[in-house]
Order: sequence, then C-alpha cells, then structure tokens
Amino acid sequence: MNSILIKNAHIIDPENSVNGIGNIFIKNGLFAPLEAADGDDGMIIIDASGLTAVPGLTDLHVHLRDPGQTHKEDIISGCKAAAAGGVTSLLAMPNTDPAADSPETVKYILDKAKNADAHVYVVGAVTKGLKSREPTDIDALYRAGISALSDDGRPVENTAIMVNAMKKAAALSIPVTAHCEDPYLAGGKVNEGEISEKLGIRGMPRAAEDAGTAREIALAAAYDIPIHICHVSTYTSANMIRDAKKAGVKVTAETAPHYIMLTENELLKRDADYRMNPPLRTERDRLAMIEALCDGTIDVIATDHAPHTPEEKSDFVSAPNGAIGMETSFAAAYTVLVKGGYMSEEELIRKMSCNPAKILGIQAGSLTVGKPADLMLYAREDHVVDPDRLHGKSKNTPFKGLTLSAKVKLTVCGGKIVFNEI
Ligand SMILES: [Zn+2]
Repeated sequence: MNSILIKNAHIIDPENSVNGIGNIFIKNGLFAPLEAADGDDGMIIIDASGLTAVPGLTDLHVHLRDPGQTHKEDIISGCKAAAAGGVTSLLAMPNTDPAADSPETVKYILDKAKNADAHVYVVGAVTKGLKSREPTDIDALYRAGISALSDDGRPVENTAIMVNAMKKAAALSIPVTAHCEDPYLAGGKVNEGEISEKLGIRGMPRAAEDAGTAREIALAAAYDIPIHICHVSTYTSANMIRDAKKAGVKVTAETAPHYIMLTENELLKRDADYRMNPPLRTERDRLAMIEALCDGTIDVIATDHAPHTPEEKSDFVSAPNGAIGMETSFAAAYTVLVKGGYMSEEELIRKMSCNPAKILGIQAGSLTVGKPADLMLYAREDHVVDPDRLHGKSKNTPFKGLTLSAKVKLTVCGGKIVFNEI
C-alpha cells in the first residue's frame, strides 16, 4: 500500500479543533506525522488546493440487501456507493434474506465486507426473522461480531423483548437503533393528510411514528439505558426527543437528508422513488428536522439507503418503500444546511462523521495521527444528480435532477484510495 500525501487542503477536523489549510500524510493505513513523509519515495501526492478534507463519514443506517436480494444491491456494490459519497464506515441493517439473526449470517457479511470499499459494521436482529416473536441469541451474535442491535425495516412489536435487548446492549456497550412505528396504525403509502387525500391512497399517520418514539423513550427513561431513534421525520417526535434529552434520558437520534430537503408535495408526481418509510412529511416537519439538527436534538444524519430496482419501483402504489442515499447524502445535507445558512461545515461534519462514530463506538470521525486513515475530500461545486452516474446497483434516488452544491472528489478508506474524481 502506497503512502499518500494530501497537500494544501482546507482541513476540517472538529475533534482536533482544526479548521485551516494544511497537509495530511497517510502511511500503512494510518494517519501519520507529516515528518514521516520526508524521504518517502513511493508516495502518492495529491494536490488538494481548493478542496476540503474531512474525516470519512459514518452512515448509521444502510440496507446492503446481501444476502438474499443482491439484484438490488450487494455488499461490494453498496460499499462502492458509500465510497462515492465519502462514507467510509457504515452500519448494515439486518433485514436481509436470511435476516442477520444468526452468527452464520453475521460472519458471511463480515467476511464478504473484507474486500469492500468501506468498513462494514453489522446490526444483529433483535428477534428471529424480524418477526417480533422469538428473541435472538444476542451473546452468540456479539461473539460473531455485531456492532449494534435492531429489527430495522420493522419495529420490535413485543415491548418485553425490546427491553431485554436494550438491557443486554447496554451491558455490551453497543447501541440499539429503533425503527419507531406502531404496526397497528401503519401500513399507508404516503404521509396521511392533504396529499394522501388528493392522491386517494391510504396515508401513514404521524401518530404511528410518534407512538413508537414515545415507547422507546419511555423504556430508555424507565431503565436508564440508551436508545438510538432511527429516521426521525415528524416535528412531534423531534419535540419528544428534545424533552427527553432535557430530562437526562439517554436518547440519541438520526434523520435523513430527504427529510430536510423534500416534502410530501413530491408525491404528487406519483413516482415511487419518493416513497419511503417513514414517508416524506410536511414543510413544518422539514423545518423542524433542521431546527432539531441545529439545536442538538438530532445528533446524526444517516441515509436509510434502501435500494430497489426500477422494475420494483415502477408502480407508484405497490412499489416497496425506500430510497437510496449514500452517494448524495453529504451533498444534499451540505446544500440544505450549510449553503442554506443553518450550520457551519464543521457542525455538519459532526453530524455525519464525529457523532455517528461515537454512537457506534468505532475508531473513526477524526484525522488523529495513529488512527485508521479514513477521509474524504470535497469541492464546493454545483452538480445535477444523474441517477445513471451513480455507483450502486439501484437508481431509486429522490434527489434526481436536483442541483446539489458540494461534490465528493476523493475518498480514502483504511489508507487506500477507494474513490477518485480529482
Ligand atoms: Zn427503518
């Protein structure tokens, strides 16, 4: 592996309070002191003038579809999409086929990921087959290498099983990430309200998400154990999380770029690429997600990268939920939050790199000498999202045709250049 010298970058490294022009040296897969570059003949030199260098992003919410649905995505293609989006670590959700509910499946994913362009961390299922009936053997999954627990794709309907998983996870110091949804209220196709009425299709009430959020917060509060709330989309859930944090509850939360950039009005196009779960909500919800990110209520921006083929997405109503997002997440979040004047680049890097790495408890989220060399370079550059130029297997992006104001130019993962468009 060649050493790499990145010269004249604008370096933003919040954990080390760095924000200015400088050089970065990478050797043997790690960030190394600049002095070590002297006399290194074989190194790759990258002129990063005009580009910004930041720690690689960690995406806490990714569906790699492998094993079982590799026509949509697989571990290798998903990590190519990650690399193109500056994502160097990702958390792979367990709703594969079979589900990641056994040590064998966990080991399969970790094994295949050894040759991938991003660090893959595996979520073990809370219940067998994500059916909310029988708990998994969490100790066995942990020994196999899981980094978190969730039934994402679905809620854990059985509250007693959820509590046990949260207690066990707290003892093992791994997070539980909760897909908040009351299954008895859920089942609609778009946000319930004006738009669902106009379209004449069944809506998903915000109460379905909020009831789930309220339950998870109640459990975390009652037992004083952590919970991470996935893909927050309603202002009402954001308010609950804000209040819970004030009261000292160990709750962290994420939202996704589509919830801060788009609203339910997109659904009037009757295009299933805008259908995901939770659904795009109202302008009030969108603004509340931005406010919650800015005031620290929501800690993390994650994608809920959920690939489906064009054929699967062809019918507006019967198509499965989900949108891809890893290749556009930074660019979209930058456009809304930084260009929109809501937060600094440094704050955005905290939401997409430092905070998720801390929640996952991994060695990422900084450019500290001696740590694994995961970083990305980006340009402040307008570009139009063209689904045909994306690197994953599926094209179901809700950002298609939009002009975004940042572009990932180079990604280094574990000291290796995994994406380069300089
Ligand atoms: Zn989910």
